[in-house]
Order: sequence, then structure tokens, then C-alpha cells
Amino acid sequence: MLPRKSWIPPRGEVPLVGLSILNEEENAVRDAVRALVAREIAPKSQEYDLGEIYPRPNLEILGKQGYLGMIVDPAFGGVGTSYLAQTLVVEAIAEVDPATAVIYEVHNSLHIEAIWRYGTEDQKRRWLPDLCAGQRIGAFALSEAEAGSNAAALRTRAVKEDGGYRLTGRKMFITSGGEADLYLVFATVDPSLKSRGITAFVVENGAPGLSFGPPMDKMGIRASRTSEVVLDDVFVPDDQRLGGEGEGYNMALFLLDGGRVGIAAQGVGIMSAALARSLQYARERHQFGKPIGTFEGVQWRLANMATDLHAARLMTYEAARHREEGPAQRPLFAMAKLFASEHAVRHAEDAIQIFGGYGYMTEFGVERLLRDAKITEIYEGTSEIMRWVIASHLLKDYDLDNI
Ligand SMILES: Cc1cc2nc3c(=O)[nH]c(=O)nc-3n(C[C@H](O)[C@H](O)[C@H](O)COP(=O)(O)OP(=O)(O)OC[C@H]3O[C@@H](n4cnc5c(N)ncnc54)[C@H](O)[C@@H]3O)c2cc1C
Repeated sequence: MLPRKSWIPPRGEVPLVGLSILNEEENAVRDAVRALVAREIAPKSQEYDLGEIYPRPNLEILGKQGYLGMIVDPAFGGVGTSYLAQTLVVEAIAEVDPATAVIYEVHNSLHIEAIWRYGTEDQKRRWLPDLCAGQRIGAFALSEAEAGSNAAALRTRAVKEDGGYRLTGRKMFITSGGEADLYLVFATVDPSLKSRGITAFVVENGAPGLSFGPPMDKMGIRASRTSEVVLDDVFVPDDQRLGGEGEGYNMALFLLDGGRVGIAAQGVGIMSAALARSLQYARERHQFGKPIGTFEGVQWRLANMATDLHAARLMTYEAARHREEGPAQRPLFAMAKLFASEHAVRHAEDAIQIFGGYGYMTEFGVERLLRDAKITEIYEGTSEIMRWVIASHLLKDYDLDNI
């Protein structure tokens, strides 16, 4: 028989599951950003969530400290770090504020990265320094009311005229819609070409004809504004087209590959918070004269949470390390997002269950984990689309000798 209380884990840090593969530099980034987040972002997180306040100051703080546009070359205002370093920042932010994490992720992986990878020298000089400093915020406008999972069906039109294009259409569910300064808008120059007509444009807030719906009321990540973006005959000069005509669809898919690694990291951050909160509570909360962590029903839940977090971290970090290889590694990005997002939802539920009635109360901030986790299974490709991506790869390309 085990001696009484031998189950009690050592006091102090939450077990650092999944972190063994980080090198010294990556660990240093992780430590530094977690300290910054604890000091500057955590204190206002609950207030921003309950008040649905867009956390622009957080983006400014992150920009000042060099955490925006991290993969961008310093010549354009970035830092020139690895993709994994940026992924660790998303995770650290999501541990305390998943709404800021998604704004950060869209700004970096879907907007800055687009300009960094596809922009001309002039476009990079014009937009990247402000975006990397947090002085301007970027958004990504692909989805439409009738074109979500099937983005190739988008209907926003780009009609060529002298010196530029006229854009008309409506973009649905846009993160930072109305708050962002720059919008990466995907529109078709010829609907008969289907996905091969889709072209990307950078549209500046304030352009005549550009307007926004009100913030949409939603379940979680409430501080992150989500709005419709309306383009009514908006003139976009030629030098604000990103890449060539018809290159937008593959560009969007490439960017979403990285975005999915970021959403996986958002899920990992939520899982980490769920485990940390649950462990602390299991040690402190007494029922039947003992800490609830003495009960096997609670222990098994905690053990599963730690095991899943370990796996989700390894998958996410591995995916980040392969980001540069692009579409060839698409199933890896999809697997990381699928696993981390579905487990984030499950762990948020587990944390609420461990907290009992208190977990259901807003004051304890645990119910928020579930509200914030759910969206990770939906945006940047739903879980069904992730399974589709993975299965298509297995059925078409997978080498059966190497399973
Ligand atoms: C809070 C929030 C923020 C967002 N931010 C942005 C943003 O910044 N920019 C942007 O462009 N978009 C954004 N989106 C849009 C998001 O990416 C889409 O909501 C998502 O891709 C799903 O599209 P949909 O909502 O139209 O669902 P649909 O595509 O209509 O799907 C409905 C259901 O059908 C399933 N389904 C669809 N096709 C298939 C299939 N082939 N096989 C199996 N199942 C299928 C889906 O998985 C889902 O369960 C955001 C959405 C939300 C809610």
C-alpha cells in the first residue's frame, strides 16, 4: 500500500510537459515572454474579456518588446527569429488571454507574413516596420457568408481599371475588423477561373467605400473584435496588389498552414492554463477531510490532461519546425491544430469539472477557458476540414512502407 500523501506532486512549477525539445534560445524566448505576459497582459485580461474591450495596448506592448513580426528580417523592423519562437509567444499569450493570442496570431501569421513572403521590396518597406512595431494592426479577410470552409467560392470582385482595381463584396467574421489598419483582402478578378482568379490586395482602413459591421456578439475570445468588412467599389492601386493576379488562393492556403500552427499553439496555451489551474485547485480544495487531489477520479483526469498537453506541445513545436517546408507538410500542420484544439476544449471542461460549482462561476475564470477554447476547433479550418486534409494525404500520397 502506498504511504499516505505519497501521491502529492512536488510543490512549485507545473510539470514542464512537452518542453524537452526546446533548445536554450527557445527556452529563453519562452521564459521572457511568459514574464512579460504575466506582468503586462494577465492583470487586465478578465476586465477586457468581460467588457469586450479590444486589447490594443497589448499589441503595442508586444510590438515595443520585439514580439511582433518575429520572423521578419531586422531590416524591415522584425527580429529574424525562427517560426517556433513566434509559436511559443502565441502559446504564452494564450495561457492568460486567448483573445489577444488570436489577434496576435492573425496579425503575424496571416498578415505580416503575407507581406514578408509575397510583398515587393517597396511594399515591405512601406508596411512592415509599422506592423512590426505594433503601430498598425493587420487583418486577414478571406471568409464570406457563403464561402467559409470552401473559400475558393468567394464572390468579392476585383475589377481592373486604370492604375488599380475596384473591389466590391462582403467579408464575414473578420478578426480585428474595424480595429485593424490594414486588411489583406482576397477577391476574384474572374469568377469563371474559380480559385485561379483569386487575388490578394492590401486595403488601408479609411479607403473610401470600406466600412465595417458592428462587433459580433460571441461566446468566447470576447475581447477580440469580429466584424463584417464591407467593400463598396473600393479603389485599390496596383501597387497594393500582393503577388500576381490569380495567386491569392495558394497564398491563402500557404498562410493558413502557418496560421494553423498558431491556432494549435493557442490550444496548447489554453491546455496549459487548464492544467495549472486544476493542479493548484486539486491541492488546495478539501472535501471529505482531504485535498480532492487524493481522489482517483480527479487524479486520472489530471494525468490525462498532462499526457495530452505533452503530446499537443510536441506536435505543435514539431509542426512549427517544419513550417518553412510549406504545403509538403500540410498534414503535419493540420494534425497539430486538430489535436491541440480538440484537447483544449476537453481540458477546459475537465478544469471546470475539477473546480465543481466554482468552475461554473465567472469569477474564477475557469468557465472562460471553455468559452475561449471552442473557437480553436472552428477558425482557420474546422476540425472536419483538418481531418479531410489529413485523410486526403493518407489516401493519395502516403507511402505504405513507411507507416
Ligand atoms: C471568431 C471568428 C473569427 C474569425 N476570424 C476570421 C478572420 O480573421 N478571417 C477570415 O477570413 N475568416 C475568419 N473566420 C471565419 C472562419 O475561418 C470560418 O468560420 C471557418 O472557416 C468555417 O467556415 P463557416 O463558418 O462558413 O462554416 P461552414 O464552412 O459553413 O461549415 C459548417 C459545418 O460544415 C462542416 N463542413 C464544411 N465543409 C465540409 C466538408 N467538406 N467535409 C466535412 N464537413 C464540412 C464544417 O466543418 C462545419 O462543421 C472567423 C470565424 C470566427 C467564428
